[in-house]
Amino acid sequence: MVPEGKWRGARRTGLEAGQIKRVAASEAIATRRDFFRRLGRMLMTVVGVAAMAPLARRVRRDMTVWQIDPYRCIQCGNCATHCVLMPSAVKCVHDATICGYCDRCFGYFQPNATRLDTAAEHQMCPLGAIQRRFIEEPYFEYTIDETLCVGCGKCVKGCNAFGNGSLYLQVRHDRCVNCNDCAIARACPAGAFRRVPASRPYRMKT
Ligand code: SF4
Ligand code: SF4
Ligand code: SF4
Repeated sequence: MVPEGKWRGARRTGLEAGQIKRVAASEAIATRRDFFRRLGRMLMTVVGVAAMAPLARRVRRDMTVWQIDPYRCIQCGNCATHCVLMPSAVKCVHDATICGYCDRCFGYFQPNATRLDTAAEHQMCPLGAIQRRFIEEPYFEYTIDETLCVGCGKCVKGCNAFGNGSLYLQVRHDRCVNCNDCAIARACPAGAFRRVPASRPYRMKT
């Protein structure tokens, strides 16, 4: 439909009624095209935002990592056997600030050890991953060789039962590949696995 006011001047300049209709029709087509172009752009934006959602989820996931809450872990042994890596990304860590430097360390020695020496049969760790070093009478320092530790938690159990609990299990982030669905977390009977900020990836006891 031709708006009367708009075309009054055209009539004055001598445009024929047919010409006016053709010009008006082409303007209406241009307006429709413009509308569909804008609609298309809006749809592209919506589709683009939807396509970005998995990426945004991935970025959020990459900002967190798996970690063990040492107060929940019951040292069931699954950390050594269920990790997708072999050996496991879980290792025993030793917090020296809460260690008693005990001569008779219950994380180091079997409970029935007859002598407090470094003989393999007296040690709790089946892989000899704990190093014992004399400091001064009667104190000894214990350190973990992570290249040998498989995260079985046997030493942690001994230290928690009779010692200060300075040995505990942690996911080591120089090894862990941060699986979306951690196989150990799925198998953990204590619900000890948590996602924690990548900027603070360890859950220390102190
Ligand atoms: S699976 Fe859970 S309870 Fe078992 S040793 Fe690992 S963290 Fe501890
Ligand atoms: S006893 Fe198990 S958790 Fe402890 S140091 Fe040895 S391998 Fe690691
Ligand atoms: S996230 Fe993967 S690599 Fe890391 S501890 Fe769990 S199973 Fe192992």
